[in-house]
Amino acid sequence: MLRYIEPHAHMVSRTTDDYEKLALAGCAAVCEPAFWAGFDRSSAQGFYDYFRQITEYEPRRAARFGIRHYCWLCINPKEAEDPGLARDVIALIPEFLQRNNVLGIGEIGLNKNSRNELRILEEHIQLAVEHDQLILVHTPHLEDKMKGTRLILDALKNHSSIDPGRVIIDHVEEHTIRMVMDEGFWAGMTLYPESKCSPHRAIDMLEVHGCERIWMNSACDWGVSDPLAVPRTMLEMRRRGYDDGWIRKVTLENPARFMGQSPRFKLDGLD
Ligand SMILES: [Zn+2]
Repeated sequence: MLRYIEPHAHMVSRTTDDYEKLALAGCAAVCEPAFWAGFDRSSAQGFYDYFRQITEYEPRRAARFGIRHYCWLCINPKEAEDPGLARDVIALIPEFLQRNNVLGIGEIGLNKNSRNELRILEEHIQLAVEHDQLILVHTPHLEDKMKGTRLILDALKNHSSIDPGRVIIDHVEEHTIRMVMDEGFWAGMTLYPESKCSPHRAIDMLEVHGCERIWMNSACDWGVSDPLAVPRTMLEMRRRGYDDGWIRKVTLENPARFMGQSPRFKLDGLD
């Protein structure tokens, strides 16, 4: 069985059975960006508890199944419309950056492409620069994904200290992947069970755009989603004739290379 990394999963919304399924499917590490929990939190204290959950509790739950758990911290764009709350949450983050499963700042980005969201995005970018952190970016799922992606790339490029090789832009689709990769960023493809990016579309994108600076994830959360979307796509790759070396590159080596830029990321027996 090939080992792989799930680089984007919201395990706080999943059952312990899901951890077991991931382990049985060969998952070596799961990475959890901070995101919306299915409801709006009423205060910064709610985020404080959430940050404790993803830095203390989830790593222990994962370890029971031999899976390493990493996380990213931020206030997500869906809850960043109130700049006062957002700044209170951002102020909590530096103390958590010291914890040993934290890889960086994410998933930051835009949801409705509003002025407040953009301002808080810029403040997160500044936070990442000040603390020398990797960045994981969420792009909007709405019809203006293209516009949102453009705004995000510009906000990143406007910051002179940002190295695009240390930023992954997630949820790319056919119409946004090229601009992300052409400007030197990493790209994440999210595999959805219902609409949007299917395993076939993801593999097609790899064939068109190559397999450098790209990963795949399930982004499984509290909604309709599939924690096994990555191993299902690995199976589909095999059906389409790809060998183990190629599958391993996209699903294990690439995420390990990107996240390995953080000194916190370690994976036993990767070589
Ligand atoms: Zn997410």
